[in-house]
Amino acid sequence: EQRLIVVLGDQLDRRGPLLDDLDAARDAVWMTEAVAEAERGPVHQQRLVLFFSAMRHLRDELLARGITVHYRCIEDAPVGAPEQGLADHLRADIARLQPGTIVMMEAGDWAIEQSLQDVVRESGVTLQWHRDSHFLASRESFARWAEGRKTLTLEYFYRSMRKRHAVLMEGDQPVGGAWNFDKDNRAAFGKDGPGELPPHPRFQPDATTRQVIDRIRERYSDHPGDARDFHQPVTPDQALQALDDFIQYRLPHFGTWQDAIWVGEPLLYHARLSTSLNLHLLDPRDCLERAEAAYHRGEAPLNAVEGFVRQVLGWREFIRGIYWLKMPGYADANALDHHERLPSFYWTGDTDMVCVADAMAAVLRHGYAHHIQRLMVLGLFAQLYGAHPYAFHEWHMALYLDAVDWVSLPNALGMSQFGDGGVVGTKPYCASGAYIGRMSNACAQCRYDPRQATGERACPFTTLYWEFLDRHEERLGDNRRLQFQYRNLQRKSESQRAAIREQAKRLRGRMAADPDHRERN
Ligand code: SF4
Repeated sequence: EQRLIVVLGDQLDRRGPLLDDLDAARDAVWMTEAVAEAERGPVHQQRLVLFFSAMRHLRDELLARGITVHYRCIEDAPVGAPEQGLADHLRADIARLQPGTIVMMEAGDWAIEQSLQDVVRESGVTLQWHRDSHFLASRESFARWAEGRKTLTLEYFYRSMRKRHAVLMEGDQPVGGAWNFDKDNRAAFGKDGPGELPPHPRFQPDATTRQVIDRIRERYSDHPGDARDFHQPVTPDQALQALDDFIQYRLPHFGTWQDAIWVGEPLLYHARLSTSLNLHLLDPRDCLERAEAAYHRGEAPLNAVEGFVRQVLGWREFIRGIYWLKMPGYADANALDHHERLPSFYWTGDTDMVCVADAMAAVLRHGYAHHIQRLMVLGLFAQLYGAHPYAFHEWHMALYLDAVDWVSLPNALGMSQFGDGGVVGTKPYCASGAYIGRMSNACAQCRYDPRQATGERACPFTTLYWEFLDRHEERLGDNRRLQFQYRNLQRKSESQRAAIREQAKRLRGRMAADPDHRERN
């Protein structure tokens, strides 16, 4: 009986339930490049290159092993014709190929998972369903952990994962006697800057990748980013090389500088392994093992290794758990009732705010910004501005190479925009320009002054920060974790508050969204 194995663009692990027991005589693999995403609206050119090239590398490996692969590529999609989604393609192929069984694995996107399951159900073909073994916490085990808890706190989940998987543990105690070294991980560079930085690895595109780059340039040269500047890993071997490069050259300093920003240096000591992890080219277990081994060899300090482990074993698994626990309703959450469209500089980078222009330059050049630029510059501004949280998530999905629905919704809509009203975080991440002033050298180069909320040189972050608190006083004024901020707001006179409101209104008028970049859907 023929089995048709569905492999999605973020399921490229060579090991795992989909490809582990492949039998060339019985099995065929089904893969389809998601061209519809690019046809619907602007998508970073390198995002398309990453997914399509990584998929083609897997396809070619399978073909070389004699496996039949039914592969639909961008060349098969006529230019300008309405492009069908994955589910439509699968429906047509089930009718054409008449498999006896469809093999699928948990997806990274609730809507895609539902639509593909529906297609199989309608077809009457037997469905063989697998849990995604890439993650260390299954959907079910996370749900069990969450059951009965009033609030879902990363710290407790993280500690349970450290214990269960024996990562950085001495018996039942954390190595070094503490679970958390965050206080060591908030340094700023000071006026001398970061000094010489270790270069990030660049993977030269091979013939397969170059072909994808050419196709993307032909079809989507008006999309953001430049496909020709693509240098990301597209195979598991390259992903492991990128991991080793990080462990050797950047992990030792990663912790200390993980929250720092330096204009013109978007990559700093960050791992930038998220594309490989999220396409499942890289196994999180390899990341954990190699980072822990570097600590035990004395090659990286505990604050750095723990900070990295916290991201991979804690945060990443935590938000995936939340996503599957809360979907589908999570996507509609808009706790702060925000409805603005994003200003046009979220697509062009064209703004006189130095911190935003710098972060956007990274996004447009690399399809990447490190977490503090995402959260505390681009995310913070969108939240203070009052952007619709789902629109912010869609923007994040379109422009970042590492974004997949499960990772983007809780991070972008949830943590960064507080759209979920406190599921992944207990308060909105709101701060004024003073925070950016402390963590970066951007303000010294900027025409605005982060200390001023009104007047000609008022920093837009600072204006909108006070106006955000003012606007949401009823909703957020009682939040214990915002007490300090609200006490400061309440010290302002009514006329100061009115002037801030007036300044914010003028600012929003000036930053109206670009009509060319409507939100999708
Ligand atoms: Fe950003 Fe304000 Fe600083 Fe300018 S002054 S860099 S807008 S925080």
